[in-house]
This record gives sequence, structure tokens and C-alpha cells, in this order.
Amino acid sequence: MSECLFCKIVAKEIPAEIVHETGRTLAFRDINPQAPTHVLVVPKQHHADAAALAKADDGLADDVLKTAHDVAVQEGVAEEGYRIVFNTGPGAGQTVFHVHAHVLGGRSLTWPPG
Ligand code: AMP
Ligand code: ZN
Repeated sequence: MSECLFCKIVAKEIPAEIVHETGRTLAFRDINPQAPTHVLVVPKQHHADAAALAKADDGLADDVLKTAHDVAVQEGVAEEGYRIVFNTGPGAGQTVFHVHAHVLGGRSLTWPPG
């Protein structure tokens, strides 16, 4: 996916502040943070959204979730509580179509989401 922004970050063609990396996942800080901790976790393999990731059926969704939790621990927000968000589809606010988990924490998170 040569035109995909997050594929380019995975390929290290575009710089990002990488905070965690495994064989199959990469985590980097969101460029427009909505909370003191706002990290994006992506599978290195391109899947457009959470629905496509779920269908990958090879444990990759598992890896993304585990990395999201590891990032929360590393960022020191796991105990106080944090939020993992997959905006899925334009109607939900998805703007980058390479699946990513937002890991948000470090402030009081309201519900409905805010
Ligand atoms: P979404 O709207 O759920 O698709 O989330 C896309 C996220 O990617 C937004 O929170 C953006 O701030 C973030 N973003 C866009 N470009 C970059 C970039 N170059 N590096 C890091 N985060 C980015
Ligand atoms: Zn991609």
C-alpha cells in the first residue's frame, strides 16, 4: 500500500515518535494528541479497518490488543484506566484507512466518549 500514510510510518519513510515495536506491530504518538497519553497502535501489515483486521484470522488482532495494553503499562496509565478506540468507517470518524487502535489516558475520560 504505497500511498498509505501508516504503511509509510511502518516502513520508516515518514518520521513518527515510535514508543513500542514488536515483530508485527508498531506504536507511535498521535500527531494531534487528545489526551496526555495518545498513542496509535498499528499492525505492520496493511488492513483498512478493524473489520478487516478481525477477518485476518491469524492472531494479528490479538497482537494489536496486547500491544495496546503494553503501551498503556509503559506509559504509566494502566492502573488509573485508559481507553482503546478503533474508529471504524467514516461515520465513526476514521480518517486514516490503515487500522489503528488509539490508546488514550492520563486524564479523566468521559462517557459518552469525550
Ligand atoms: P482516525 O481519525 O481514527 O482515523 O485517526 C487518525 C489519527 O491519526 C488522528 O488522531 C490523527 O491525529 C493521527 N495522525 C495523522 N497523521 C499522523 C502522523 N503523521 N503521525 C501520527 N499521527 C497521525
Ligand atoms: Zn497501510
